[in-house]
Amino acid sequence: ADQAKTYKFKAEVNQLLDILVHSLYTNREIFLRELISNASDALDKVRFELTRGSEVADKDLPLEINIELDKDKKWLKISDTGIGMTRDEIVKNIGTIAKSGTADFLERLSKEAKPQEMANIIGKFGVGFYSVFMVAERVEIVSKSYLKDEPAVKWISEGKGSFKVMELEETPKRGTAITVYLKEDAKEFAEDWRVKEIIKKHSNFINFDIKVNGEKVNTIRAIWREPKSSIKKEQYEEFYKFLTYDPEPPLETIHVAVDAPVQFYSIMFIPQKNYNVFGLTKEDIGLDLYVRGVLIQHKFSDIIPEYLGFVKGMVDSPDIPLNISRETLQENRVVLKIKQVLVKQILSHLEKMAKNEPEKYKTFWNEHGKIFKLGYQDYSNQEKFAELLRFDSSALEKEGELTSFAEYVSRAKEGQKEIYYITGASREALETDPHLEIFKRKGIEVLYMYDPVDEFVITGLNKYKNDYTFVAVEHADLAKLEKFEDVIKDEEPVEELSKGEEKVFQKLLDKMRDILGDRVTEVRESKRLKDSPSCLVNPDGQVTSQMQKIMQIINK
Ligand code: ADP
Ligand code: MG
Repeated sequence: ADQAKTYKFKAEVNQLLDILVHSLYTNREIFLRELISNASDALDKVRFELTRGSEVADKDLPLEINIELDKDKKWLKISDTGIGMTRDEIVKNIGTIAKSGTADFLERLSKEAKPQEMANIIGKFGVGFYSVFMVAERVEIVSKSYLKDEPAVKWISEGKGSFKVMELEETPKRGTAITVYLKEDAKEFAEDWRVKEIIKKHSNFINFDIKVNGEKVNTIRAIWREPKSSIKKEQYEEFYKFLTYDPEPPLETIHVAVDAPVQFYSIMFIPQKNYNVFGLTKEDIGLDLYVRGVLIQHKFSDIIPEYLGFVKGMVDSPDIPLNISRETLQENRVVLKIKQVLVKQILSHLEKMAKNEPEKYKTFWNEHGKIFKLGYQDYSNQEKFAELLRFDSSALEKEGELTSFAEYVSRAKEGQKEIYYITGASREALETDPHLEIFKRKGIEVLYMYDPVDEFVITGLNKYKNDYTFVAVEHADLAKLEKFEDVIKDEEPVEELSKGEEKVFQKLLDKMRDILGDRVTEVRESKRLKDSPSCLVNPDGQVTSQMQKIMQIINK
């Protein structure tokens, strides 16, 4: 074997280690969850290789995680029979390559109001392994890759700036064993009862046996295959926490077992909060994809459209071929079918929620509505989608109450085939808009739209129920509006202009035309204004002024 070689941790990793060791004490137990989760990932990977028939060292080893403890010597050792690491892999994966997650984690930490809670979600950033140094004064990893000719390697570090790597003379069985030499103040993690407690709390849903000193500890597996009636709410919540690290329970749980046109099971959750207020990135979207209980891909984003990206959970289908390559997954016919069915399931679930639990629906809308609105591009589900949209409206007493198109239509005037809307920054800004005058006078409802994407949404929808056209108030056909009776009567009738006054008025209009010149197409007398002296209107058939502003920004 070659000699031990010392490597320096990447600078960001050092920074991360420093913070983990010195600042984050409250959630130290999660280091075990992170190591077990890595062991489980490694087992998933080797199971994947086995099922697709690759050559694998020690292929008859049981796929499991073993934990040994020594209370007196203050260590614990976590061994898995997973995919293992080669020398190159161990150097790269643990220490020298700083994943983008490192910087993201540090950045989040610097802004976090409750930094103590950050340890809990470290796994989300792809740097979970380092959490071991919250409890360890030294860590030793021995790993043997599933590749037959690769020698075993040993990795040693005290988490202070550097680590050592050497090849081993002897060849252990396939997999990875991590020995954690505990700090004096962390010796509880070598206690049998304590370790079992942590596993039950954080790792109960791991899909492989976890044994502590030979005794199996985790109990629940594949709850998605069990009948809904046998699963308790707490179990769903526990599963949700396991999947997402979200400290809050989910807003909604959707558990489906589908037989046709494809067979699959799925448990999906809608989180109570949108933690990605700046929008979802591709990494945030996706459901874990299993084939007959074998995890094929974590957070597989092609199984769900972007506008439903707030949904978390998993799918398990026996109809996807197990030996499928990750590259061809997204074009797989079964995957596409599952996606279609899932979308329909989620939409009808939301429909039910809107009907039966309006308060809950409001929470959903306020948290996830912004992403959900992108669904206007999903043409095959447009009808259902349209029913799920919500807006503020002139018919509502205060902002925050929401209305649907269906409710708007139920309040519309007899013969009214338009859904009127106005776009702007806020209710306050809109309510004084001169364009609304005539609508107020006629008692015609107008939807208030504050989100720039709203206009794309209704332009995309084109019509509601093939029957109602969306019309911006500034494009409204006055003749159509005037047909309806006034609901607010003027106190004094408007006097006709005398001949002389008419002349002066025409002069005024001429003057305005002179001054405004090319900047406007026309200056004309308004029949719709009563309280405001003037307003800007768009020539018919043109986009609204709000849309023009958006285009200007886009074209810049
Ligand atoms: P993540 O698990 O999100 O990738 P971690 O910091 O937890 O981030 O782990 C870093 C990497 O180290 C893993 O991606 C994996 O390549 C490697 N690794 C860690 N533990 C094991 C293990 N038990 N078996 C094989 N590889 C491992
Ligand atoms: Mg990990």
